[in-house]
Amino acid sequence: MPEFAKMNYFGHERALPNWFWTGETKMNCLSKSIKQSLEHAYAHHIQRLMVTGNFALLAGIHPDALDEWYLGIYIDAIEWVEITNTRGMSQFADGGIVGTKPYVSSANYIQKMGNYCSNCVYEYGKKTGEKACPFNSLYWRFYEVNRPLLEKNPRIGMMYVTLNKMSDTHKKELFEQAEKYLSGIESL
Ligand code: SF4
Repeated sequence: MPEFAKMNYFGHERALPNWFWTGETKMNCLSKSIKQSLEHAYAHHIQRLMVTGNFALLAGIHPDALDEWYLGIYIDAIEWVEITNTRGMSQFADGGIVGTKPYVSSANYIQKMGNYCSNCVYEYGKKTGEKACPFNSLYWRFYEVNRPLLEKNPRIGMMYVTLNKMSDTHKKELFEQAEKYLSGIESL
């Protein structure tokens, strides 16, 4: 500190969607986690790391905005603890001082960890097309966009092996889907 508080390894610039302050999103995992956080000033570790934090990282939200959100709403958010968890572990904005890899996942992980997906407008098993879960296309877009920063990381090399094996057509569909979702992020 104080440099740590401004680190932004991926250069993320997107504003925090307004629904982070209301929970009014069709994505059930985010809606439930955010509404619970706003109401009780508390969320489980997985809700923080793998639902809200995961989405923010995949969507390229500015880490300053996410830091302010966590600091503002959680009862246990004291800055010296919160900032290492948010900017370091959750957003990998420090480039790996706290963690060794970014904590991101597609819908598959969220589906396994809870029951949000069974009551969602989106389908966790769909990557593209109508009702495809946004986490899926955003996940692969994240790896593609950040390839120069992540490809050499030994903990995530396998993701690039998988990505490199995908057909150009499939990748094009995935990345177009992700960009469509990002351009309409307020209405997800
Ligand atoms: S389908 Fe996607 S958006 Fe909906 S609850 Fe599951 S992970 Fe969240």
